[in-house]
Amino acid sequence: MKYDVVIIGGGPGGSTVGCFLKKYTPHLKVAIYERERFPRDHVGESQLPAVSYILDEMGCWDKVEAAGFPIKIGATFRWGTTDDLWFFNFLPTEFEEAPRPARFEGQRRSTALQVDRARYDDILLRHAEELGVEVSEETAVTKVNRDGDRVTGLELKDGTLIDSKWYVDATGHVGLLRRAMGVEIEIPTGLQNVAFWDYWQNAEWAETIGRSGTRVQVMSLGYGWIWFIPIGPTRTSVGLVTPADHFKKSGLKPEEMYRQALAEEPRIAALLERAESEGKFQGTKDWSFVAKRQCGENWFLAGESSGFADPILAAGLTITHTAAREVAFSILEIERGEIDGAWIRESYERRLEKRIRNHIRFADYWYSANAQFSELKEFTQQIAKDNGLKMTPEESWRWLAQGGFIDEDLYIGNGGIDINGIRDFAEFLYGGTPETLFAKNNVFRLNLVGAKPYDRAVYTEGRVEKVPCYLRDNRMLPLQGAFYFWMEVLSRDTRLPGIMKMWNMIREHHREDPNFDREIAAQMTSAMEALILDGWVEASYDPALPLMPVSFRHTHHMRVQKK
Ligand SMILES: Cc1cc2nc3c(=O)[nH]c(=O)nc-3n(C[C@H](O)[C@H](O)[C@H](O)COP(=O)(O)OP(=O)(O)OC[C@H]3O[C@@H](n4cnc5c(N)ncnc54)[C@H](O)[C@@H]3O)c2cc1C
Repeated sequence: MKYDVVIIGGGPGGSTVGCFLKKYTPHLKVAIYERERFPRDHVGESQLPAVSYILDEMGCWDKVEAAGFPIKIGATFRWGTTDDLWFFNFLPTEFEEAPRPARFEGQRRSTALQVDRARYDDILLRHAEELGVEVSEETAVTKVNRDGDRVTGLELKDGTLIDSKWYVDATGHVGLLRRAMGVEIEIPTGLQNVAFWDYWQNAEWAETIGRSGTRVQVMSLGYGWIWFIPIGPTRTSVGLVTPADHFKKSGLKPEEMYRQALAEEPRIAALLERAESEGKFQGTKDWSFVAKRQCGENWFLAGESSGFADPILAAGLTITHTAAREVAFSILEIERGEIDGAWIRESYERRLEKRIRNHIRFADYWYSANAQFSELKEFTQQIAKDNGLKMTPEESWRWLAQGGFIDEDLYIGNGGIDINGIRDFAEFLYGGTPETLFAKNNVFRLNLVGAKPYDRAVYTEGRVEKVPCYLRDNRMLPLQGAFYFWMEVLSRDTRLPGIMKMWNMIREHHREDPNFDREIAAQMTSAMEALILDGWVEASYDPALPLMPVSFRHTHHMRVQKK
């Protein structure tokens, strides 16, 4: 039987591709082959808010919300320069208790979920099935046949041959099609860790916010860190991450090291005092990597088969869902034949690779700064040295900024954290908050030298559209939203008094809008800061001119605070 698209793997990546293909082009013949029978456990439970938008667009927010997974408000850390706890919240204000199941609106647009993957992956796969995807479980794909860069078919365990126009590798870390197509991977970091975990019944929740809100707990030890993620009212995922080298040298068995770590960390030990392990202990290598190609003539990689960033940022599912959505839209757009397929493929590859690399960069920044790793000093110093990362707030900030803060989706930040949140993290990681370049300068000039006009890919409602932007050294300047606003302003006046005059006119225009300062002003100041850090605006100080008023500076989205 000939399919339009065959997806290997029915995890979140595979289901997301399938759902979007069927949502926007219901007549397509789409199949998912999954080697396991769902529900099945899977590591990777703590999400970021961006995932919820995709679930909503897939049409399965209500189903996921009905499962009652804990709401993730943020994270609590023992990490960095101090062993005191500190935390951050996705919301700029306190979380308000509200009945569940809730619609995808209000504060729920800024929070995330901590999902039990056995249930979550099953909900998504069943949703794909309801939309008309043919789902075969306990059906492993054993071989990928190819002719050059073209996939010519798949083979199942029983010898059945599967024929399709398009193929998607959503096999997670297995990377079945990636390997078969000879795609190499790059490991752009010294972060080579192992992870051990188990599920626990009846652990105390470290924090209960409202009835079902909580924060993920990230607790450092001298030789690694522990995640503590409630994924249901009584079920909690608890894992340990430690460098592979350290584990090897310890001479301990995986479970011995895991148990020892849980007993040593006082907060975790207390939370687990009356809990029972489910006896599902598992381990894996979690080495960050990025595939050197993400697609070919009739195939795409989606999800973890295309790359992986250390779980410290809890970004895996966000990258997976985002890329899987883009894969579906790319296939649909290439099939329409109205836009150059090479540009569609190139756009997908460039933005996915940049996303994964930036997450890996952020993880390096995060690990290098952890003074709590008392037994891993050489390891963290080596990561910093390999990267040329200096340990002061200003220099480490500049190093992080090299990856670029302006995301092609117009998001301003890295690793799912906005730029202001990341700056605030520096206080706990590097012992000081880097100065805002927008605040300490007062002359701002656009710098487009060497920038090339380019078409940015915008993925909306099943389509990939070309939207003009500038590109320079893999940094992108979108000509939209806050970025466009600043380009317009700076083309009229480069000096702060003139800029503030234009700004105040806008503010006056929005004076009835209660969210102006919190939402729009915060977005505008973040955009300007990112424009400076990404090199699109040159900032300088003229002593004859005033600096920006203090009231304008403190508009933060996320909150990073001491306990
Ligand atoms: C230790 C660790 C901790 C993590 N923590 C987090 C976290 O807190 N937050 C987060 O967002 N992410 C986390 N992640 C990442 C997250 O697990 C992945 O991003 C996510 O599971 C990727 O989804 P996927 O659909 O690409 O792959 P998977 O979820 O792995 O799904 C792949 C599917 O393909 C199937 N398959 C494989 N081979 C075949 C075959 N030959 N034939 C048919 N089917 C096949 C598998 O059975 C599986 O169901 C973590 C990862 C690790 C390793």
